[in-house]
Amino acid sequence: MQKKIAITALVPPELIYACGCKPFDVNNVIPFSKKYPRNKLCAWTAIWQEMLSKREIKIDSLIVVAGGDCHNALVDGQKVAMSGIPTHFFFYPFDGSSEYLESQFQKVSDFLGGIKAPEKPEEIMELKKIGLQIDKKRAAGKLTSGDTFRILISFSDLASDLDTFRETISLIRETDIKINNRIALIGVPPIYPDFHDVAQSLGLDVIFDELPFEFIRHSGRDIQTIARDYCNYTFARPLDFRIKFLQKELKKRNVDGIIHYTQFSCHHMLEDDILRSNLDYPMLTIQGDLPGNTPEQIKLRLEAFREALERS
Ligand code: SF4
Repeated sequence: MQKKIAITALVPPELIYACGCKPFDVNNVIPFSKKYPRNKLCAWTAIWQEMLSKREIKIDSLIVVAGGDCHNALVDGQKVAMSGIPTHFFFYPFDGSSEYLESQFQKVSDFLGGIKAPEKPEEIMELKKIGLQIDKKRAAGKLTSGDTFRILISFSDLASDLDTFRETISLIRETDIKINNRIALIGVPPIYPDFHDVAQSLGLDVIFDELPFEFIRHSGRDIQTIARDYCNYTFARPLDFRIKFLQKELKKRNVDGIIHYTQFSCHHMLEDDILRSNLDYPMLTIQGDLPGNTPEQIKLRLEAFREALERS
């Protein structure tokens, strides 16, 4: 029986599958949750903390990304550990050292009992190549923004089952979309499950999702090569590294504007002014808190942003 390993942010799924386990990204259930946690800063970490501590989701162990892309997870992860779930704390290197990252991945592997299925990373690499094609097709108007987002975001754990995920990808249908405004969505993903569909219905076509793009562009065949690639995971690196990457990707995609999604009580909010002064595009910053459909006031702001783009 494969062990189910919950992850709180990007932990290479290649490594977890290679250890004979199945990853489960706890964030993928949160946009559909009706939970209003009592003791919270960021709703994402507070909700998974409550769900895991109260055993509302059944898992065998937890890997918390405690250093790198999310700082709230460090405390909420400890609360889950105190509830009795075997928990490992994983840290990305701020300076991008692949040697350090390799030692971190070795510890993850030890926590999971060592490598048992060394062929899995190669299989995942093939799926990620399809993910990159999907991303390109959306930018060319061949796939809807929402369908593409739902597939790309699932690359964090590949739906906990490679065959099921391969099947899901094969069902995605091409279409012809008239792109009105080419939008890059940067920051953490929105907590609203309908966000991409709503934005597209209002004339804002998201053709780049920053974080999900990180999920598909990194891979590797073994611990060493996975470390060499994931050490360039932009969210865990200094802002100037991330900004240079964004400048290149946004130019390549010929974007008209940026939506910067921020989350209430998330430290990434503090990056907004730096992103604004370094990314030379019209930018709308929005903030979400609890999960649910996109609120009316955000829809109004999206409409106003589209009008501003069309006037410029
Ligand atoms: S929104 Fe920010 S604080 Fe919340 S889980 Fe994501 S990175 Fe962490």
